Amino acid sequence: MNRLRRWSSFGLLLGLMLLACRPLLGAPGLLLSSRDTPQPSATATLAAPSLAPTATHQVATPRPTPSAASPSPAPTTDQPTPTAETTPAAEATLSPAALERMARIEQDVEELRGLHATRPVEKVVITREELARKVEEDFLADYTPEDAAKDAVELWLFGLAGRDVDWYEVHKTMLSEGIAGFYDDEEEKMYVVAEDGFPPHARLTYAHEYTHALQDQTWDLDEGLGFNDETCEQDSELCAGMQALVEGDASVTEYLWFWEKATPREQEAIRRYYQSLDMPGWDASPEFMQEDILFPYTAGQDFVLALFKDGGWEAVNAAYDNPPASTEQVLHPERYPDDRPMRVDLPDIGALLGDGWEAVTEHNALGEFWLYLVLAKSETLAYRLDEDEARRAAEGWGGDAYATYYQPEGDGAVLVQKWVWDTSDDADEFTRAFLRYAEQRFGPAQSSGPTLWVWEDTEWGTVFFATVGPRGHVWVIAPDRATAQRLFEATR
Ligand SMILES: [Zn+2]
Repeated sequence: MNRLRRWSSFGLLLGLMLLACRPLLGAPGLLLSSRDTPQPSATATLAAPSLAPTATHQVATPRPTPSAASPSPAPTTDQPTPTAETTPAAEATLSPAALERMARIEQDVEELRGLHATRPVEKVVITREELARKVEEDFLADYTPEDAAKDAVELWLFGLAGRDVDWYEVHKTMLSEGIAGFYDDEEEKMYVVAEDGFPPHARLTYAHEYTHALQDQTWDLDEGLGFNDETCEQDSELCAGMQALVEGDASVTEYLWFWEKATPREQEAIRRYYQSLDMPGWDASPEFMQEDILFPYTAGQDFVLALFKDGGWEAVNAAYDNPPASTEQVLHPERYPDDRPMRVDLPDIGALLGDGWEAVTEHNALGEFWLYLVLAKSETLAYRLDEDEARRAAEGWGGDAYATYYQPEGDGAVLVQKWVWDTSDDADEFTRAFLRYAEQRFGPAQSSGPTLWVWEDTEWGTVFFATVGPRGHVWVIAPDRATAQRLFEATR
């Protein structure tokens, strides 16, 4: 099971793109100049000032999407409230002027993106209350209290959160607050949140979501691309790569619409809207979660822009036949598609642990991006490496595998992880960085070096960290030394 990427896959195709665009909307010209009208065949039209790498990773103060606490979506006279039982068609709830504006955005997006709808996209207008209900019924329906408990164990093992966080509540708040509209690729329907007619910020959302509809009609995201729960559970790195492609593409298109097609008045209204947005749930959420949610939009957009600069939309289109296989490829587009993740195997941890243990994650990869989060975004500030050091340490990732287990009837928890690095220099750099991180988190090692470090009686139990050959590492956390030793010996 892929626990760590849970919220990302909840976020599939949701209208969270507004999260990512806000910093850019305040900085006109950062993405591209208004003269750079991209043509589908053009190769260099986005070559104008691109996103500075730092800008895209600055998520310290994102003020993403409409707040649930913002003015209640009381319908105006020409917008009868949709009833809960039957979600009425858009025609029933949006004014003719709004529908006309929508149709023009559809044309604009098709022209900007160079993709064309093969059939009309059904629109469903819902209120924010209905959206909140839909979030619980659709997105959280399969998320059981047991799932939430497992998430809590895994995130605690990685040092990213306390063990008693109620992740169901966190997801519910974030989703209800953070969604501005979404395209449902299973139902093939566009959900538009009716707030006050069809205001400029909703038009921007619509440009993004309509791009998803075009992607789905062109490539079939679920069946064709394979962007679905199964992929995400089996290979969270490929899942993250696909999501970055899909969201990066929609984000770039959305910005193009903003700069090329929105009127100056709309642009101004959209900027004002995001400047005044209040997002208490987002503000209160852990930093690692914010960065994880933003990743497909920010890093994905840089990835798509890199492809676009080289080969225009044709190169972006081609990536749907060969999506990025890892967060490493997304973060370093020059490594796409050749630097494939290396396969790393683990022993059968369940069999080694015996009765009374249950897998949280039986086998998955953490990847470059999540390793960066573990090193730089610990819940406790004192454990954190600074962002640059963490980024450098995670870079050079060749492949990894980890497993986490817990005792449903007790409080035992186990983490086993194994890495392989691109080069021995990358491995050495990680050794140094991890030891600094470990010392901050676990204190001084009881026995240390030259290849094995052990910490006992930490808050998490006994911790082993070892170099394995010139390019590998093993990390084990277990409740006691004997168990840690057994798992370590079997894994090294
Ligand atoms: Zn999206």
